[in-house]
Amino acid sequence: MSAVAAEGSYTYGTLINGVWVSEGRAFATYNPACPDQQVGHYRESSIAEVAAVMKAASTAQRAWARVPGLERQGIVQAFLAKLRGETERIARAITLEMGKPLAEARGEVGYSLREAEFMASEAARPLGHLLPSLRSNMRNMSMRKPRGVIAAITPWNYPLLTPMRKIAPALTFGNSIVLKPSEFTPATACIVADLARGILPDGLLGIVLGQAAVGQALVSHPLVDAVTFTGSVATGRSIYKLAAQSLAEVSLELGGKNPIVIHDTDDLDACLNEAVTGALVNAGQRCTAISRVLVRRGLAADVEAGLAERMRAVVVGNGFDERTRIGPLAMKAQLEKVNAMVENGVAQGARICAGGERLAPAGFASGYFMAPTLLCGVTPGMTVAREEIFGPVLSVLPYETIDEALDMVNDVQFGLSASLFSNDQRVVHRFIDHANAGMLHINNQTATDPNMPFIGMKDSGVGACSVGQGSANFYTSESAVYLRYGS
Ligand code: NAD
Repeated sequence: MSAVAAEGSYTYGTLINGVWVSEGRAFATYNPACPDQQVGHYRESSIAEVAAVMKAASTAQRAWARVPGLERQGIVQAFLAKLRGETERIARAITLEMGKPLAEARGEVGYSLREAEFMASEAARPLGHLLPSLRSNMRNMSMRKPRGVIAAITPWNYPLLTPMRKIAPALTFGNSIVLKPSEFTPATACIVADLARGILPDGLLGIVLGQAAVGQALVSHPLVDAVTFTGSVATGRSIYKLAAQSLAEVSLELGGKNPIVIHDTDDLDACLNEAVTGALVNAGQRCTAISRVLVRRGLAADVEAGLAERMRAVVVGNGFDERTRIGPLAMKAQLEKVNAMVENGVAQGARICAGGERLAPAGFASGYFMAPTLLCGVTPGMTVAREEIFGPVLSVLPYETIDEALDMVNDVQFGLSASLFSNDQRVVHRFIDHANAGMLHINNQTATDPNMPFIGMKDSGVGACSVGQGSANFYTSESAVYLRYGS
């Protein structure tokens, strides 16, 4: 406990043209494992400060766009190398402010940097094509140019991964970026921006801090060329409306209600281990968390018993304790919301087969800990089967045929990730063709690779994917070039 208490005390405000300014209203963050411990002391950005960050970002972007692409790539890579050298400091900030186990926070740093390095490598790839012309002596090209100033707003669940998913491609493709991290976990993004000073030109990466009003001021600023947002559907809708006023390009990455379909397997233990991992990483506070287990009825009893046993065995505790597999939920409101969802499930007829209660590990009685919870007897119409829970809760729903399972996969508002366990090729291809999700996994939970498109369908997302080659469609705009040569 003393090692934890000795750390933290992050103090940041608005980053304007490479200088931290701390004048606005004060706000604080707290360690979710022991909420009496204040972790961060911050200053909210005023409207005037948001405008100053935007002006600096606009000026910096014009110069950055003239830097040759491969030179920009080298500068971005130097920035990423600096972050890699500070892995431990960044990981500890994530655990302290957000709560996830330190090993997972270190994993988040490693994975974020793999993804960012992949995006930096995109600087060397073609950004256009040669096209045939109707006319002789004419060379036609399509080329992509930097979009301009990117406004980015991120949630609290991945304090490094989500900001880096926006910062790395924005810079690589010649843009500047102004980021508003979540008011619950700003330390990590502030550390990142601080480490960028002296490597990136001043003004290229700006930080504004605060809640919805600051996000609104950022999105509606006239110098914004494109808006990238990750967070809840409700906020995504309101940002989409705001951005429409200036016709800025928009990319939204929203929630999920991700199923795993267990149809047949020759290794049920391995399959259940994957399901539990997919459900409990980051205490289930993951847009791609598995939250529904759809199981062929003949396997249901074994699957329910195996999941319950595994979930009861999970060690829940302080993220700085090496034995901890899942940490606290990130904030009190999240704990209350998850508990209310479980109670609602029971009221609608579900049975609690594991967990279902708040936990108070020794020494951390006031932390926001929740037991991994398995709900059985869930039917497709129940709220727990339809709405995002964003906590360590799994619901089991039996089915008879793969077509019935596919209807259940698709009959929700979301379409982010969907997983299938089967060795039957007809079932596998039926699933690939008809499961409506941006990311499909066969015999794999929902773990992604750093070079693959990260994208959602339906209410899970709008616009180009954030990772992968398609992200150039958001971070650049296309121009058609007609070039007459000779007479
Ligand atoms: P949230 O929508 O409450 O907040 C996200 C960010 O938006 C925060 O920085 C917040 O300050 C800001 N914000 C809130 N209201 C705003 C407004 N009116 N205008 C401008 N900015 C505003 O989301 P959250 O609770 O922080 O995060 C959890 C949600 O994020 C979940 O729904 C989860 O599924 C989603 N998420 C999605 C992905 C993905 O890639 N699809 C990844 C992570 C999280």
